[in-house]
Amino acid sequence: LHQRIQSEADQPAKTADGCEMTLLVNAGLSASLEMEQNKQGAGVGLYRTEIPFMLRERFPSEQEQFELYHSLLSAHPDKEMTMRTLDVGGDKPLSYFPISEENPFLGWRGIRLTLDHPEIFLMQIRAMLRASIGLTNLHILLPMVSSISEVDEANRLIKQAFHEVKEEAVKTNKVLFKPAIGVMLEVPAVIFQLEQIAKKVDFFSVGTNDLTQYLLAVDRNNSRVAQLYSSYHPSVLIALNQIVQTSKLCKIPVTVCGELAGEPSGAIILMAMGYRKLSMNAHSLRKINWVIRNVAICELEALLPQILSCAGPDQVKQIVDQYLEIRG
Ligand code: PEP
Ligand code: MG
Repeated sequence: LHQRIQSEADQPAKTADGCEMTLLVNAGLSASLEMEQNKQGAGVGLYRTEIPFMLRERFPSEQEQFELYHSLLSAHPDKEMTMRTLDVGGDKPLSYFPISEENPFLGWRGIRLTLDHPEIFLMQIRAMLRASIGLTNLHILLPMVSSISEVDEANRLIKQAFHEVKEEAVKTNKVLFKPAIGVMLEVPAVIFQLEQIAKKVDFFSVGTNDLTQYLLAVDRNNSRVAQLYSSYHPSVLIALNQIVQTSKLCKIPVTVCGELAGEPSGAIILMAMGYRKLSMNAHSLRKINWVIRNVAICELEALLPQILSCAGPDQVKQIVDQYLEIRG
């Protein structure tokens, strides 16, 4: 039986009507272990670099970061490794960098914090770039972007670090390849400036956890309003649909790396919209792989108008559950 389950998981993620999906894994705690669980997969779609920062008592040095990143990039040089720059603040505190705010989720978090401390940002980018010398799989992802100027500033700093590290590489006769740069789509404001942002970066990654929180004005961790927090709210789905449509027009690759991608109902709605790259927790991979192989894209596409015109999340879930039931 174990063998059968294993061979199930090794099947390519292709729908019953032949549409291929790319499944990636979200990592943070033990990235090498998580990659092991996705042997057949395409790599890491979201490496949360803040987790190793949170487990320490002080900022890791550039050398310490370099060693960690190098072990991850070189373990699977043929697979994409998307490293998100430090995303602290909000629900992710650093004991050695205390922040006290009345509204942490609307405050100093993600790229806002690191652009205010370019020495932290530059050190991390340099560590990533040094770790990728001779390798081609590094993707750098920017969290909590809410304005074009943040993209410009981050790009400027990345370019600066690139030139510094490139000089080092040339001295030792090694090559430093340009990493792909991406923006997290998780603050609603950027949805309305996608065309402009697409010209400045190489890919998008949708963070449905924060996007849901900010679109619905519901704290993702507050149990008192937990019933209001749903990524199946039709407004969230309409936003997700708009993102994939605009990304297609702009010819920019887009992945979904929020929790929604690892839920069967979420994954099939995203597939119906046209998303073909999903990144999820390792424990969801097998389940989603199975779901993909048992659905047909043409049927999902036919369900989409109905899903997007629902009044609320319950109706959405009902439609999707009904379909999943028919499909076994
Ligand atoms: C998200 O916001 O959906 C996301 C993937 O990032 P995190 O959960 O780390 O905030
Ligand atoms: Mg987020």
